[in-house]
Amino acid sequence: RAKVEGRSTFRFFAAEMDRKLQIRRLLELDLRTALEKGQFELVFQPLVDAGRGGVCCFEALLRWNHPVRGVVSPDEFIPLAEETGLIKAIGRWVLQSACTEAAAWPDAVSVAVNLSPVQFNNPFLAAEVVRALDVSGLDPRRLELEITESVLIMEDALVLTTLHQIRDLGVRIALDDFGTGYSSLSYLRRFPFDKIKIDRSFVSDLAAEDNIAIVRAIMGLGQALKMSVVAEGVETVEQQAVLVGEGCTELQGYYFSAPCAAGHVHGLIDRLRTVLPRCA
Ligand code: C2E
Ligand code: MG
Ligand code: MG
Ligand code: MG
Repeated sequence: RAKVEGRSTFRFFAAEMDRKLQIRRLLELDLRTALEKGQFELVFQPLVDAGRGGVCCFEALLRWNHPVRGVVSPDEFIPLAEETGLIKAIGRWVLQSACTEAAAWPDAVSVAVNLSPVQFNNPFLAAEVVRALDVSGLDPRRLELEITESVLIMEDALVLTTLHQIRDLGVRIALDDFGTGYSSLSYLRRFPFDKIKIDRSFVSDLAAEDNIAIVRAIMGLGQALKMSVVAEGVETVEQQAVLVGEGCTELQGYYFSAPCAAGHVHGLIDRLRTVLPRCA
């Protein structure tokens, strides 16, 4: 009997896997035409300046409005876009659209754009950044690019060259999801980042001793290397208080606002004008 059950369990898993692969293949087919069909949209989430108060930046986050499935999360389709190489064209669209939106915001407000590691397999990435800035008229000092530690472990001369070219434009570079990757601290020294973003997994449970210790260690690193430190995933007033107390320079999370449609950016800047440092 056990044997029969085992076999049917196997069949169940096989069917389940088949179904998942099927969905993936269909999603991939749809992804190929999503750009030309105008199904992508950027939403924007504010970063609050802990020192001066108010919004200093918005992170652009990609959404795919699928005609049947509704909004598909980037965690679902970015990996697909990376595997298929579609990320190149999609990433170019994101960069251009984000810069164009930001050009209409107040001068003191920047835009942060996420770059996939795959986009660094491209000798023209820096040129694409230049083009996005030229076309939009955005001041390079108002653009920030977020990369993850996985870019750094590519150990590629092209990566470092590209990062330096981009930074020489006056564009800032932030290290996203810090603490979750496999990179060693020596990467931080090898490349002059402007900003470190503490991964939200350390922020979500600040009551845990370990997490506070990690936040403190990252703050120390940031101060020593003269990088500003952002906390992402701030959801409560308690987390805000702790993070500001520890010296985080910027905060981001649902506590301030979820990512919102481009049309709400100006309203959010107004609403969050007085949000910090009053509470510090
Ligand atoms: P990320 O760059 O670390 O972006 C932060 C993610 O955390 C966003 O998820 C955001 O909506 C979410 N978040 C913000 N505040 C909170 C909070 O208080 N609590 C919780 N639980 N979550 C919060 P989202 O938009 O689903 O994006 C997921 C990831 O997909 C991003 O992580 C980024 O790695 C990637 N991604 C998004 N847009 C793009 C893009 O245009 N290009 C590339 N290459 N990747 C992108
Ligand atoms: Mg990011
Ligand atoms: Mg992040
Ligand atoms: Mg993340």
